[in-house]
Amino acid sequence: MYLPADLRKQLEDVDDHRCAYCQTTQANSGQPMVVDHILPETQGGDTAFHNLCFACRRCNEYKGAQTAAIDPLTGEMTPIFHPRHDRWQEHFAWDESTILLVGLTHNGRATIIALNINNPVIVAARRRWASVGWHPPAP
Ligand SMILES: [Zn+2]
Repeated sequence: MYLPADLRKQLEDVDDHRCAYCQTTQANSGQPMVVDHILPETQGGDTAFHNLCFACRRCNEYKGAQTAAIDPLTGEMTPIFHPRHDRWQEHFAWDESTILLVGLTHNGRATIIALNINNPVIVAARRRWASVGWHPPAP
């Protein structure tokens, strides 16, 4: 996808080469972040800062065209986390003992399920990073 240099710079400044959803860093994933259309282009989402974020390849692929998902606690359809409208720390927490991301809100819980954020492969990787001091942003 073509991304003007100034837009890329804006994303780098805000997202710091971290996935806006799971907070995995580019350094930890060993792969360049992809640029995610928060509202997919196929649903009218535009290529502008307010609709773009960095995402790891895994979150981007699981997200696909989803903008809403079921909150496993209530069973209700709810919007998934919106990196430009929502503050990550209000929707997610990092459980130090299990190395799982925990959803604090409807949106957070739905996003964790929709994007498969606690899949065993990433949890194993997070455990390795945590052992050398990596953690998502503090609240
Ligand atoms: Zn991710």
